[in-house]
Amino acid sequence: MRRHVAIVGYGTAGQACALALTHADDNIEVFERVPEPGPVGAGFLLQPTGLQALWQLGLLDDARRHGAPVMRLYGENTRDRVVMDMRYADLDARLHGLGMQRGALYSILHRAIGGRVQMHAGTRIDQMDHDAGRVRDQHGRWHGPFDLVIVADGAASCLRETIAAPAINQPYPWGALWCLLPARDWPWLDELRQRYRLARNMVGLLPVGTTPDDDTPRLSFFWSLPTTGFEPWRQAGASAWRAELAALWPQADALLEEDFDVGQLARAAYRDAVMPGWWRGRAVLVGDAAHAMSPQLGQGANMALQDAVTLMESLDLHDSLLEALARFTRLRRRHLAAYHRWSRWLTPIFQSHHDGLARVRDIAFRPSGKLPGARGHMLRVLAGTQQGWLGRFALREDFLRAWTAHD
Ligand SMILES: Cc1cc2nc3c(=O)[nH]c(=O)nc-3n(C[C@H](O)[C@H](O)[C@H](O)COP(=O)(O)OP(=O)(O)OC[C@H]3O[C@@H](n4cnc5c(N)ncnc54)[C@H](O)[C@@H]3O)c2cc1C
Repeated sequence: MRRHVAIVGYGTAGQACALALTHADDNIEVFERVPEPGPVGAGFLLQPTGLQALWQLGLLDDARRHGAPVMRLYGENTRDRVVMDMRYADLDARLHGLGMQRGALYSILHRAIGGRVQMHAGTRIDQMDHDAGRVRDQHGRWHGPFDLVIVADGAASCLRETIAAPAINQPYPWGALWCLLPARDWPWLDELRQRYRLARNMVGLLPVGTTPDDDTPRLSFFWSLPTTGFEPWRQAGASAWRAELAALWPQADALLEEDFDVGQLARAAYRDAVMPGWWRGRAVLVGDAAHAMSPQLGQGANMALQDAVTLMESLDLHDSLLEALARFTRLRRRHLAAYHRWSRWLTPIFQSHHDGLARVRDIAFRPSGKLPGARGHMLRVLAGTQQGWLGRFALREDFLRAWTAHD
């Protein structure tokens, strides 16, 4: 049966769901509040779980064409002490991550969708009738009824609370400034590199490859700060910040032009949202709307891609919407269970004013990863393949074959 589906939000989760459901030949309407939809932010690290989802969507080759292979995550403090050093190969020689520009993933998904959805850009949905499957826009106009409403309106979702009262829904006190930079002669083109001054500053550089419209290899630059620090940072001016960056990590500062415009740095804030249930009536939450978390573990986009393919499979398997949504929620919650807690615990160790905690981190983080059992667990958390506290999210053999065929 051809379903009539509404998707609220055209970020990674909304796009991936749109593509997954066009494969099933569903009739899809997308509601996006931004008048000209496009990517927001700099880049992200796709993990094997997210790459498997892209493979299921038929986009692995496109992703590889533009993404930058990332083999290692390496972080040191300002005294050059190695705090973190993790390699995918220590988990499985076949695996690695893929750094991607947000613009690249957006374009790849958008081109694959290829106009097969009806787009309502500049349309903010502010209310839903879950049982009838209808959505109301900012002008008070109702749309639908739809067989299914996929709510993908991101971390600050205004629709989440209409599904259920969140168990947790709070902003993090820390956020980030980030932008894309040309990679030039950066020496670590297959590593995510970070540098820490206690937990007060975390600077990161992630290779993120190219986009379909621009073949300049780029890096995603990240600078953490408290959200209350955004305004004081702006008022202090560019030269004060450049001096701080140069003292903290001269090689990163050297990547920036002398007259680098700090206006290029976009602000990002994070939120922690845990929901007791993800669906009600004909409406289901996906992506950050369902499970927003800090980007400390770099999992959000990967989880959004996994949501889309699991939803697609669940709808394929069950004629009953109720059974399909119950299966989707059960599988996704099982996978996500430990990630919320890990990111909630790790974020203040890397982004806070807790100097004592940061000193313990500098001494203990790396050795603790060498303890029996801990190493595999940490690597699986990184690769997105931890499932709950003790389980494993098994990557498919046919995906691994497709993945290694190109290496
Ligand atoms: C600094 C930073 C670094 C990150 N790094 C990584 C990483 O390395 N790896 C990783 O996997 N993840 C990373 N993430 C997380 C990742 O960006 C998110 O998890 C992912 O983008 C979530 O996608 P989404 O589609 O759920 O939400 P979004 O991308 O936020 O999309 C939501 C969309 O809904 C629209 N919208 C909102 N409200 C409405 C409404 N009422 N009506 C209609 N439309 C609406 C918005 O305009 C937007 O287009 C990072 C996040 C940050 C902030």
